Amino acid sequence: MEAASHYVSVWLPVPRRLAFTYAVPADWPALRPGSLVVAPLGRRQSVGIVAATRVQPDPDLAEIKPLSARLPEIWDLSPPLLRVLQWSIGHYLAPPGEALRAFLPPALLKTKSPDPAKARLRPIPALETLSLPEPNAEQNAAIEAILAGPEGFQAYLLHGITGSGKTEVYLRLCAELLGRGRSALILVPEIALTPQTVGRFAARFGAVVGSYHSAMTEAQRLKTWIQARSGELRILVGTRSALALPLQDLGLVVVDEEHDSSYKQEERFRYQGRDLAVLRAREEGIPVVLGSATPSLESLENAESGKYRLLHLPDRATRGALPKIHLVDLKKEAADPETLLSPSLAAALAATLARGEQALLFLNRRGFAPFLLCRGCGEAPNCPNCEIALTYHKRPAAMVCHYCEFRAPPPERCPRCSDEELQAMGSGTERLEEALARLHPGRRIARLDRDVSLSRQRTEEILTSFAKGEIDILVGTQLVAKGHDFKQLTLVGILLADSTLHQPDFRSAERLFQLVTQVAGRAGRHDLPGEVFLQTFRPEHYAIAAALEQDPHRFFLHEREHRREAEYPPFRRLVLLRLSGNQAGKVEQAARKLAEDLRTLFARHPEVKVLGPSKSALEKLRGKYRWQLLLRTSKYEAMRRVLEEKLGRLEKSLAAGVSLHVDVDPAGSF
Ligand code: ADP
Ligand code: ZN
Repeated sequence: MEAASHYVSVWLPVPRRLAFTYAVPADWPALRPGSLVVAPLGRRQSVGIVAATRVQPDPDLAEIKPLSARLPEIWDLSPPLLRVLQWSIGHYLAPPGEALRAFLPPALLKTKSPDPAKARLRPIPALETLSLPEPNAEQNAAIEAILAGPEGFQAYLLHGITGSGKTEVYLRLCAELLGRGRSALILVPEIALTPQTVGRFAARFGAVVGSYHSAMTEAQRLKTWIQARSGELRILVGTRSALALPLQDLGLVVVDEEHDSSYKQEERFRYQGRDLAVLRAREEGIPVVLGSATPSLESLENAESGKYRLLHLPDRATRGALPKIHLVDLKKEAADPETLLSPSLAAALAATLARGEQALLFLNRRGFAPFLLCRGCGEAPNCPNCEIALTYHKRPAAMVCHYCEFRAPPPERCPRCSDEELQAMGSGTERLEEALARLHPGRRIARLDRDVSLSRQRTEEILTSFAKGEIDILVGTQLVAKGHDFKQLTLVGILLADSTLHQPDFRSAERLFQLVTQVAGRAGRHDLPGEVFLQTFRPEHYAIAAALEQDPHRFFLHEREHRREAEYPPFRRLVLLRLSGNQAGKVEQAARKLAEDLRTLFARHPEVKVLGPSKSALEKLRGKYRWQLLLRTSKYEAMRRVLEEKLGRLEKSLAAGVSLHVDVDPAGSF
């Protein structure tokens, strides 16, 4: 073996809270933090990132192996990206090996990486190039404020109502940056649902535009990564997984629909993509633009405090005015049990169709019926793995768990009393579509929910035909709420606005306000006036009232006071500690013990509150019983340091068969 010149610590893609120590062969050129290496790990070889060089190895280590290879320098993490990775490991209390997966293309983490030359990129669906709209006064003001802003990092919150031309602002900024030889990263919540966004960038800038998201194959992603690194691609439109693309001369980061909950990753490395995008811009020393019609409370608070600069687009860019919103109080005006339409919405729908215009009906519930019920004994089949009713799907016929994807054929008779046939209770989007087809024969009706969107091609077909006016009624879940622009759409029905309020989530009012505003914003964006029917059992709720008046500021003020009083973010920071395992008793015991340990640990930190333990809202998920604890603090850094030091030990002390995961700034669903 060659003599080792020195030692380095390396992060490897394994869920361990540590860096591994290796020897650097003497004849290697110098490594630096951020270099990519191949290291032996057990009997495997694994790609990893050098965390630190010239480390003193722990004298207790029995054997230190030499590194096997160094990847070409073009793969090195740039210093800004390395700092973002380091920060996120600390902030999110994440095992480094989980975090680094977000910073490298997945194909690279496998020793047998595919040949990048063979990767074929899907062509981006290009729209016809339209004549470019001349930016209006507000758009120009926003563009100039950003271009003339401070050198280096600055965050902007672009608060523009739906259809106000935010995307046009991003496009103009990109044009300017390209002219200066810089590149731009555009993050969007969900690419399969916004092919139009990618299309608009591609139509304007052609071959330098790429897209990046997790529905692409690993080979495609690797190729995009290389093209970004080489400068071939200058504009990347992607989901949160595009966050760490190594674009050359990055000059701008945009986070579109910054309030969208899909920026939060809920598995493995639990991070908030929007926040990491801001951090990336800070480390790169460039501006970041967060755009939304309904900004998150966190971002509004940052604008209020002066951390972010607030830019307003108060009017629609096209002639369209904001739609008129009608409130339907379902306690007074009962909805049809199958279509869920109140008489006034049913009448408006008929009139819209008669005028040859389009309607969008929104219901946050897929499947045919939320549950099946035996009228004889009251049985309603539950998922065997989760503490939740199975949803009935008609085509194909199945009982489906919406949490774990468990599927079973629907029973012919009640499985308990075998007496009665089970009845479909309530309505989901599938039943809605069927009932509407009966009610409006000859009309073209389509549905877009997660069952349909599993096929990306089908999703694009539906969105394209709806945009072309080839569909009369589109039924959908929140998938249809996101930034689409349909010219003939004049009626939007929100069938059950308050369904989001029943979730155990401190953001449920915010989500409700955002959802109603976003869905309503789909109507009447162009020449035709739009109308929205908002059906609810809780017309008095402040989120509904604010959505009705289309007054985000009123909502913000109200919600902010509520959050302040209830000690929720953005005024406090939350960390969720979740315990899960196959045996209910063991999980509960572990949760109680962890609560005690944490109370002892923070005994001298009065600003840290340990809440719980309690059963999770979903007590059982995918066969695992779940308990949780919530830490709340006004001084996150102090709490974080304590946790960072002690988490490893707390994890080790857990009973066998119980696992713990940590979610910093959790999205909710406690
Ligand atoms: P947002 O992203 O805020 O929802 P878009 O950028 O999609 O808004 O703009 C909505 C519509 O208005 C699009 O059809 C776009 O082409 C058009 N538009 C944008 N800016 C202008 C403008 N200055 N003049 C005319 N039309 C515009
Ligand atoms: Zn299940």
